[in-house]
Amino acid sequence: MGAYVSIPTWWQQLDSRYRLVVGQCPDCEAFNFPPEGACATCASVAAFERIEPEGTGTIVAHTVIEGGAPPEFEALLEAEDAIGAVLVELDEGVRVPGMLTDCDPHEFARGDRVEAVVRKMFEQEGIVRYGAKFRPV
Ligand SMILES: [Zn+2]
Repeated sequence: MGAYVSIPTWWQQLDSRYRLVVGQCPDCEAFNFPPEGACATCASVAAFERIEPEGTGTIVAHTVIEGGAPPEFEALLEAEDAIGAVLVELDEGVRVPGMLTDCDPHEFARGDRVEAVVRKMFEQEGIVRYGAKFRPV
């Protein structure tokens, strides 16, 4: 098994905006995700500069969710049977949670290369939400 991914934390951190954004610390230049709070590297609380990363990276943790999704993701789970949940270390050196897309989520392992793409995440109150997902490179 790969590194442990806490599912509640994963859902919570999942970005539901249109693009993938990480925060760069103005003091030590380290990248942080989510782009808010204190810097994980130097503990600075200075406001991050929001950066759009290249989107390519390596899977460092992987799990497949086949039930127990929050309500907004239930339709997606029903449509796709399984959701691949990954923690990806971007080439910028920061780890971001995401879903897999365009592939069988069971066929992934740590160390696989992926890239971020914008895909439909879920529909809530009639509004389709998009966010970054990862697909094989
Ligand atoms: Zn810092």
